[in-house]
Amino acid sequence: MNHFLVLVVEDDAPVRNLITITLKAHNYHFITAENGEGAIMETASHNPDVILLDLGLPDMDGVEVIRRIRSWSIVPIIVISARSEDSDKIEALDTGADDYLTKPFSVEELLARLRVTQRRLALLQPSSISDSFYENGELRIDYAAGCVFLGEKELHLTAIEYKLLCLLAKNTGKVLTHKYILQNVWGSSWENDIGTLRVYMATLRKKLEGAEGSPQYIQTHIGIGYRMLRIE
Ligand code: CA
Repeated sequence: MNHFLVLVVEDDAPVRNLITITLKAHNYHFITAENGEGAIMETASHNPDVILLDLGLPDMDGVEVIRRIRSWSIVPIIVISARSEDSDKIEALDTGADDYLTKPFSVEELLARLRVTQRRLALLQPSSISDSFYENGELRIDYAAGCVFLGEKELHLTAIEYKLLCLLAKNTGKVLTHKYILQNVWGSSWENDIGTLRVYMATLRKKLEGAEGSPQYIQTHIGIGYRMLRIE
């Protein structure tokens, strides 16, 4: 199963349909938005793995959408735009877009760009086959499938929660500092936002340790960071 969630932001219905039909045919999950406000709302509520973004939107310019999403998210953004001037591309990329596709585009090229993004995201996870599972107490991470289980139950984690968990799991037993975690999960520009980290860590712990009598997996080191404990 492909766990990659794509947000398609496009006000032009035929183009939107072309993209979503292509995604569906290749087993991608997707959600759609028809304007900038919708794009920001969907990003905040569904935490997609990648955003395909049109620049000419009815309510605001796509570059403004990039700017606003980049103030709190590192989600990869691929611009798909009819604007073909170098200056438009440079502005979008400088604002925080990861890639730029000019309309009319070929669906093969779009799929190739998506695969590149998926490979980049996969680099954040352990890659060797022997390390494709992580087990600790009741907790099991299937890195290849991107799934997390607690006993028999599959946990539904957001992309950020999953990255946090993988980073802690990879370093089981070691205390990771706030700065280290922020740099590895959000990128260096986030290094001072400990408040955001606390919020995500609280929701992750609630999912991991919600059940009555379940062991504590993540230990807080006040003023320092967090540590994944080895459960016997
Ligand atoms: Ca448009």
